Amino acid sequence: MSRPQCSRCLRPLSHCLCPLIPQLDSRTRVLLLQHPSEVNHALNTARLAALGLNNAQLVVGEVFDDLATLLNPPGYQARLLFPADDAQSLHAYAQHDQPLLLVVPDGTWRKARKLLHLNPLLAALPRVTLANGGISRYRLRKAPGPGALSTVEAIVQALQVLEAPASFETLLKPFEVLIEGQIAAMGEEVFQRNHGGGD
Ligand SMILES: [Zn+2]
Repeated sequence: MSRPQCSRCLRPLSHCLCPLIPQLDSRTRVLLLQHPSEVNHALNTARLAALGLNNAQLVVGEVFDDLATLLNPPGYQARLLFPADDAQSLHAYAQHDQPLLLVVPDGTWRKARKLLHLNPLLAALPRVTLANGGISRYRLRKAPGPGALSTVEAIVQALQVLEAPASFETLLKPFEVLIEGQIAAMGEEVFQRNHGGGD
């Protein structure tokens, strides 16, 4: 009983999100490095971000052999969006002369740290963070702290800092629908548990 899947957004065809995914231009280039454990996650928001931004690339892997090439596209300076004691606020790069290659590891905190550990070039990049860690509007996914963002939210907030006054909010549209669907599905399950059973 396999459900047919959209080859682009990887959602079941009946719930394909592609019509909601924008095609946004950005000065910043976004490189998403996704741990393989995230690929089939129901909330694969890195994929939504990569599909919605023309200047973005998603690479799935654990050890990236061609990382030196990926991290050095001509004309960009690479920065890793990941916490560190000496991480710079993204505000320091707003309206900067040379555009950023924003490198975003995608996975749970543990998997993201593993990606850094396995790819020294990645770990060596100067790091940037969102001021206040970013505020999530969504609380569905287990997160280590109140500031934890989904990958697509982190990218939207980062781009809005870097490229103000441009708005990247439409990138969140498919994510919002995805979250609503998840909540509806959870509600249904709870309903079945409380009211089902056929007695
Ligand atoms: Zn689709």
